[in-house]
This record gives sequence, structure tokens and C-alpha cells, in this order.
Amino acid sequence: MNTDALPASPLAASGALTARPALPEPPSTRAADHGLRSVTDWAPIDAELQGLELISAPGALRALSRDFHWYSPVLQAQLADCRAGRVVRVSTEEDVLRVAGVAARHGLPLTVRAGGTGNYGQCVPLVGGLVMDVTPMMRVLEIAPGRVRAQAGARLADIEAAVREGGQALRLWPSTWRVATLGGFICGGFGGIGSTEHGVLRDPGNLLRCRVVTVEAEPRVIELQGEEIQQVHHAYGTNGILTEVEVALAPATDWVHVLVHFEGSPSGYRQLLDSAQRSVCGALRAFLMSAVDARFAPYYPALTGHFPAGRHALFAMVAPEALADFDALVRAQGGVLSFALNEAALLAAGLPPAWECAYNHTTLQALKADRGWTYLQVAYPQPFDPAVVQRQLQRWGDEVLQHQEFARMGGAPATFGLLLVRWRGAQRQAELIEEIERDGCTVFNPHVVSIEEGGMKTIDAAQIAFKRRADPHGLLNPGKTRGWLPGMARALPLASDKLHSPPSA
Ligand SMILES: Cc1cc2nc3c(=O)[nH]c(=O)nc-3n(C[C@H](O)[C@H](O)[C@H](O)COP(=O)(O)OP(=O)(O)OC[C@H]3O[C@@H](n4cnc5c(N)ncnc54)[C@H](O)[C@@H]3O)c2cc1C
Repeated sequence: MNTDALPASPLAASGALTARPALPEPPSTRAADHGLRSVTDWAPIDAELQGLELISAPGALRALSRDFHWYSPVLQAQLADCRAGRVVRVSTEEDVLRVAGVAARHGLPLTVRAGGTGNYGQCVPLVGGLVMDVTPMMRVLEIAPGRVRAQAGARLADIEAAVREGGQALRLWPSTWRVATLGGFICGGFGGIGSTEHGVLRDPGNLLRCRVVTVEAEPRVIELQGEEIQQVHHAYGTNGILTEVEVALAPATDWVHVLVHFEGSPSGYRQLLDSAQRSVCGALRAFLMSAVDARFAPYYPALTGHFPAGRHALFAMVAPEALADFDALVRAQGGVLSFALNEAALLAAGLPPAWECAYNHTTLQALKADRGWTYLQVAYPQPFDPAVVQRQLQRWGDEVLQHQEFARMGGAPATFGLLLVRWRGAQRQAELIEEIERDGCTVFNPHVVSIEEGGMKTIDAAQIAFKRRADPHGLLNPGKTRGWLPGMARALPLASDKLHSPPSA
């Protein structure tokens, strides 16, 4: 794909932007560039993994080497040929220990795959090797007041169903929770539905405990508690394999899903953002607060008549006792309540839940109709100033559609944008990123595969130190962290010389 085919923006043409590389250089997809060897003979590995479900059919290998990175035309091109040589399915911690040992003894690149819903090629095996599918590890192990412990491959929606029976609920989950797993959320996710009330994953009290398997000839289990879990959180499975996780629960609430619409002008969007901002800054209990501009309406066919053409929309989940205050607050800003229903009533009416209209599900609605879109993720400086969005709305016109999420982070309000961007080539994406950063915002670049170039910006020394303990040979998900260099790997105890002929130049 020629990613630079389209003309540069007027800003660049005027010389206001200095030439900037389109997007960072991607990591190599050659095993040798990561100090690893490509597997030439799977027979001894297959033999050692006998008894586990092993997949080698080309179609299945292709499908199980992909995730939702296709949101980015850049990653779609970059990762098109990345394929596992084998996929192994595991259902117990013993299975994981066994696979980890085989990987270490054979110097085999090993990438963990769970629901496969990540957006940045997080579970795509850059250099091939073995993919370990953990979704059969799906058991909920223990439910107690305020906490649940489950195998890492358990789906979040299944965990929720189990804890709801006892009047409890997960504190936060991604909008993909029907497929996404607990371990995948912790290793690949950030926050989501529920972050309006409980903050993001890394906020104190959300993550309680986990068990991590190391990748060594004799694998071990390391237990992490509380803050220690930050060492593996959002590390893309590069520094250990989670087998069990314990997270905090909240008392269950029968949230009211509300759709409010506002006048479709720039000032109408300002009023919408002001309403959302006031809702999350006040005492009103809300689980979700998601704003989209009027141009999203055609992408919500299930909401025809409820999300009227030419009106901006605010999707919220508010506590039943907060509904009257929320209604008064939005009305004061010119908002009109389209509906306010609990989830059972909503589903009975054939309407989508608010959480399916938020976070990256919003982007998905648009992509289903038009693959010419991509997106950029933005964190706005706090305290959030809606004027920034208003200026950007006017500056970019129909090239960028506005979508903001109102959450909490570190105990304070946090506002994120998932801007829907018309794809006009990598150079134009880089220009937009620069323009957004000039406005004082932070961009979490969704067109890159490394942890650092995407969200985290800097190398997390604690995560790299943990990788030295849990993945000393550098076999886990190679290429996904810029903090690990081939020279840092401890020499492998070789299982077979045949497999480890020196890498070709
Ligand atoms: C439509 C859509 C909406 C989304 N909404 C949100 C959202 O609201 N919030 C959010 O944070 N994200 C969101 N995402 C991204 C993604 O869905 C979540 O991060 C999700 O939690 C990933 O879980 P998964 O089971 O699919 O993990 P996968 O995609 O399979 O894996 C994610 C990463 O974690 C690693 N991993 C998985 N399991 C383990 C394990 N047991 N041990 C070690 N490493 C492991 C993988 O190697 C990979 O690097 C969205 C994506 C899409 C496509």
C-alpha cells in the first residue's frame, strides 16, 4: 500500500510544519533481528507438545495470528505476513508451565493470544514461532465479597454474569467484553466502561493479585499483588504469562442507559461536552459518559429515530437514583433525552446498550460502513477545556469526526478522544498527530505495534526488569517493547542444535 499517496495538508504546504517522518520505523519481522532463530523443523517441538491441542492448518494459523489491528491501514500492511508456525491451546496452569518450558528449551518465540480483540497487533506474532491460545483457561475460581479470582482466559462478560448472581459487578471492562478476557484486558487494555466511576486499570485497588508463569527451561510461577501488578499491566504479554487474576468488585447497579441529543451546531457540541464534563466532575454516579458528534448518526442504524440526523449524541450509563439530576443537568444545556432504560428494557426494545456505542465500538460502527476511516486516540490536558475540541472540530471539518470519553484516572476526571479520521496516508496522520500535540494533547498512536510508541511513551524500567526475571531469553512477543534489546537476553540452554543454527545474515 502506498501510504504517502495523498497531498500534504495546507499547514504542511505553508511550511508551518517541518518535515517529520511519516510514522516511526516498525520493528523488524525477522527473528534474527531480535537475536532469535526461525524454526526450521517443528517435528521435535510437536513431539514435546503432544497431548495438548496443537494447530498447524494454514487457515487457522492465519486467523489466530490476527487481531483488530486492521483499524489501522499502516498496521494492516505491516503485519499482513506475520504468522504463527503453530498454535497451542492451554487450559490449565500446568499446560502453560509445560509450553513455557518447551519454548525456552527450543529458543522458540512465544506469543500469548486471548480474545484477540487488541487494536495494535498486540497478539500478532511479529517473527512467527508459537502462539499460545489461553481462551480454554476460562474458569471463574472464587467469588468473595469485593473480589473475584478467575483463570486469565475467562471472558469478562462471563465473569460478570457469575458475580452478578451474588449482587456484585466488575468495576471496569472494555466494550469488547463478550470476547475479551481478564488476562488480555490487563496485559493489553487500559480502561473502558466503568472508568467513569472506578478509574482505569492501573488505579489503586482495581487489580488485586495475579499469577505469572516465567519462560525458562524450568518455568516458575511468580505471584504479584496490588501495585506489583503494574510490572505486567499493559506489557503486551512481553514479560510473563498470566494464568490467574484477582480483581476488585463493586456492588451491582442496574445502570440506566441514556441517550441524550443536542443541537448539531459547533455550539451544540460545546453544550454536550459541558454537560458531560459537569456530570463527571459532580457527585452524580455514572459508569459511562461518551460523546459523539452528529456525523456519527448514520453509523447507528439500530438507533434510527433515537439518534436523529443532524443532532450530536451523548451516551451515558447513570445510576437510577442519579437520573433526575442528570436529566436536569443536560436539559439546562439544551439536551433532549431520547431514552433512559435499564439494560433489560433496552434489549427488549431491540436497542443497543450504551456500552456498544462507546470507546472503540464507536469506531467499529463507522468502519463497518466505510473502511476509509481510521482513528487516533487522544488524552486532553486537565482540567478539560472543551474549547480545544471546538477548535479542532472547526479546523479539520469532515476529515475528523469527534468522539470523547469522560472517565477518571488517578482519582481525577480524565477526558479521552477517539477521533474518527479519514485515511489520507501516513504523512497526513503524522501531521494530524503533530497538530493535536501542538494543542497540548497527548496522542496514543494506534498505528504502531510497540508499547512505547503507542501509549506509554517511555520505556517502563520496572517492566523491563521484570522481563529479565520472567522472560530472561527474550522469547515473549518479540519486537513489542523497545526497552528490550537482543543483547539483554540470557543465553539459551539449547534443546537441539538443529533448531539453533546461527541466524542467517
Ligand atoms: C471494538 C473494540 C473496542 C475496544 N474497547 C476497549 C476498551 O473499552 N478499553 C480497552 O482498554 N481496550 C479496548 N479495546 C482493546 C481490547 O479489546 C482490550 O484491550 C481487551 O481487553 C483485550 O483482551 P483480549 O482477551 O482480546 O486480549 P488479546 O487481544 O488476545 O491480547 C492483548 C495483549 O495481551 C497479551 N495477553 C493476553 N492474555 C495474556 C495472558 N494470559 N498472559 C500474558 N499476556 C497476555 C497478548 O499477548 C496481547 O499482547 C477494544 C478493541 C476493539 C476492537
